[in-house]
Amino acid sequence: MNQNRPQSEALYQEALQHIVGGVNSPSRSFKAVGGGAPVFMKRAEGAYFWDVDDNRYIDYLAAYGPIITGHAHPHITEAIVRAAANGTLYGTPTELEITLARMLKQAIPSLDKVRFVNSGTEAVMTTIRVARAYTKRNKIIKFAGCYHGHSDLVLVAAGSGPSTLGIPDSAGIPTSIAHEVITVPFNDLGALEQALQRWGNDTAAVMVEPIVGNFGMVMPHEGFLEGLCKLTREAGALVIYDEVISAFRFHYGSAQTYATFADHAAIEPDLTALGKIIGGGLPIGAYGGRREIMEQVAPLGPAYQAGTMAGNPASISAGIACLEVLQEPGIYDRMDALASKLAAGLMETARENGIPLTINQIRGSFSAHFCDHPVTNYEQAQDTDGERFGTFFRHMLDQGINLAPSKYEAWFLTTAHTDEDIETTIEAARVAMAALR
Ligand code: PMP
Repeated sequence: MNQNRPQSEALYQEALQHIVGGVNSPSRSFKAVGGGAPVFMKRAEGAYFWDVDDNRYIDYLAAYGPIITGHAHPHITEAIVRAAANGTLYGTPTELEITLARMLKQAIPSLDKVRFVNSGTEAVMTTIRVARAYTKRNKIIKFAGCYHGHSDLVLVAAGSGPSTLGIPDSAGIPTSIAHEVITVPFNDLGALEQALQRWGNDTAAVMVEPIVGNFGMVMPHEGFLEGLCKLTREAGALVIYDEVISAFRFHYGSAQTYATFADHAAIEPDLTALGKIIGGGLPIGAYGGRREIMEQVAPLGPAYQAGTMAGNPASISAGIACLEVLQEPGIYDRMDALASKLAAGLMETARENGIPLTINQIRGSFSAHFCDHPVTNYEQAQDTDGERFGTFFRHMLDQGINLAPSKYEAWFLTTAHTDEDIETTIEAARVAMAALR
């Protein structure tokens, strides 16, 4: 039992009586970092959490991505309160939905039409249905280690959550469904080409995280997305980008409009799935793409998708407010600078202690893998020291640094982190790395 967190321990024991595994998402359990009670938080503001024992933490989880402006950002909180006072759920259209749809389209030009849903899982699930309706084909090709939510089709050789827990495929998914999914290694155009040669005529879509966030942060090799789009279209299939993590993470736009990719036209997808940041911390998802494809969706077309909560005024208001904050000039450069400083500090503390560490930084986010080789695909991410990560994680937690409890998850900077937070974190890492020797 942790001396510093008796209330968390007690609440965990009680939660276990009522909530399966004591958590409402398996990635929140500490199973992958040696087990025991996860920390029960009671309050969050800016870059900080306070737990039920009144310990303070600097937070790099950012709720797995959405909290890019820090917790309880006043502009977003105000928007949510205003929306709640006006009624939380209408079941009718509202003008707010048009506003957020316009903002998304302006930032991501491949979205001719969008539809709001309630989660990233729903968004991805529906892009697959729409792609199947449009192409009248069934198979999906995806990449090992990319996570696309927990729907049947994409939980085959999925990424962070399931691989952390050592479940390659979930139970309860019929093999007939798994047979409709082909998984190939990320950054391997040869493997994609082979898969398309064999199954191309039956393939509805190739689904990818254009910048990966689920086995660490991983950039596509130069030419990978161009090649993926070309090969997929030659096979008559659609390209689907899962930008649930990547949209608005690196700049005001998505991976498909990110400056690093010179030829945006050559990498534009047919459909895009969105979530996380676009809801400003409330439940949301969205999908969109080319007009004639999106017109497959009911009420215009034969592909059905609906939602009682979809487009609710609170989520949409929070999303609009979050994107407004992210339009402030210099905001992404600042997160980039803080992440660079933190990554450099972590590398230095690792070197001082002779600990091999590989950091993949993309703007204000990075992953830190305990290994001495690059991480550019899932196999390399698996081949890293999970036990060492678990020990590091616990030493950081005990010093008030909150990380995701999995070696596959990213560290996310927010607009609320300060230079001082980074320095405190590097000092904690120095102690944690020394403990790993
Ligand atoms: N796609 C990606 C790339 C994700 O990272 C996630 C969640 N981590 C999802 C889809 C699923 O989103 P949600 O948890 O909102 O269902």
